[in-house]
Amino acid sequence: MDEPDLPALEPSLIADKVRSEMARVFVERLSDSVLSAPLGLAITGWLIQSVAGWTPALTWICGMAVVEVMIQSVGNRFQRCLAQGLSTRGWLWAQCAVSGLLGLGWGSAVWFVWVDGQMLYYLAVLCVLVGVSGICMVTMSPQPLATRLFSLGMLAPPLAQLVWVDNPLAMQVGFGWLIMAAVQAWTARDLHRELARETESALHNKHLLQQLSRTTAELHRASAQMEEKNTELAAALGQLEELVSHDQLTGAFSRRYIFEQLDRLAAISQRHGAPVTAVMFDLDHFKAINDTYGHPTGDRALKEVVRAVADQLRDGDMLARVGGEEFLVVLPLTGLGDALQLAERLRQTLALTTVAVEGGGVIFLPASFGLAELLPDEGHAEWFNRVDAALYQAKEKGRNTLVAA
Ligand code: GH3
Ligand code: MG
Ligand code: MG
Repeated sequence: MDEPDLPALEPSLIADKVRSEMARVFVERLSDSVLSAPLGLAITGWLIQSVAGWTPALTWICGMAVVEVMIQSVGNRFQRCLAQGLSTRGWLWAQCAVSGLLGLGWGSAVWFVWVDGQMLYYLAVLCVLVGVSGICMVTMSPQPLATRLFSLGMLAPPLAQLVWVDNPLAMQVGFGWLIMAAVQAWTARDLHRELARETESALHNKHLLQQLSRTTAELHRASAQMEEKNTELAAALGQLEELVSHDQLTGAFSRRYIFEQLDRLAAISQRHGAPVTAVMFDLDHFKAINDTYGHPTGDRALKEVVRAVADQLRDGDMLARVGGEEFLVVLPLTGLGDALQLAERLRQTLALTTVAVEGGGVIFLPASFGLAELLPDEGHAEWFNRVDAALYQAKEKGRNTLVAA
């Protein structure tokens, strides 16, 4: 089954995917960082309690806990929408808004600890806030708007307070807050860009891998199809070779094939000085069988002749049908003397071979034989002509006999 084409990675598609991936990472990081919040809340709450007492400390902790729960539940809703393929736009905005609220909550802690002569507590809260905002910058970096709202939220209460209080140090402390916010905004921007780059290249890699695996699958399919075709082709080629090299009626070799072999055998035998003899025979008065008993009986007779002759041959000897009822036997590594004996045996065999005919009778299949051994410098055509001439002489001599050239 063909897979649908992989859509190309258009810039707008990449931007969409990067956005949704970043949003996903944002939520994932938020839920991962949920454990760090209680520690910050506890330390800050204790500092507030030390300066302002239990009521403001517990109020602040409870308020913060509510905001933490809000941000986690908004994150969960976002994840659920993402998993179900629903629009996550609204939840993203909600997340940014709650991030701002979270920053505001953390920043508000300084309101409780700015007491003249208690600068130490203020600095301690400041340290906690630096840590918290550092963690939040990393956590929220996939979502720049959330990061900015958080920073602004956290910065607003201390700055407002410092404008409010009448203290010579307020200016310097406020300036410090601004520098810290600027450094963190800068870091968050870098983190965001790096993450976007990584996400984009991961998308490209994933897309490339998908393309690669599809191409590999296509290649496998094509190679399997090719293998199948090759097998079919090899089978067809085998059948074709069989058709070309064998006579369809009798199963003996074909005229074309045996002439190729004659040429090859003649060359090999002459090179090695080995004898090779060819015997040709032609059934006597075969036309009369066809005329009397019909063509199908003639066909049966031809098959019977091949079966009877093949029975007498050794491995390596070759029997071919070279004409209607003419056959050629090629005997490699056989001189004229041995070939004569074999030809005589074949003549006797055929003279006694019978085929049953309609009406209960039988017909005999005598044949005339001509044979010749290949001469040292003879070509295969001349050799065959000598065999043919010998056969002609055998016919002339009255048939059912053999003549050696
Ligand atoms: P001769 O003794 O001189 O060889 O006489 P003949 O009748 O055998 O010779 P001739 O060449 O006149 O006849 C050959 C016959 O062989 C003619 C044809 O009907 C028959 N023949 C050729 N091919 C086939 C075949 O495939 N099947 C059948 N049944 N007969 C065939
Ligand atoms: Mg004949
Ligand atoms: Mg003939």
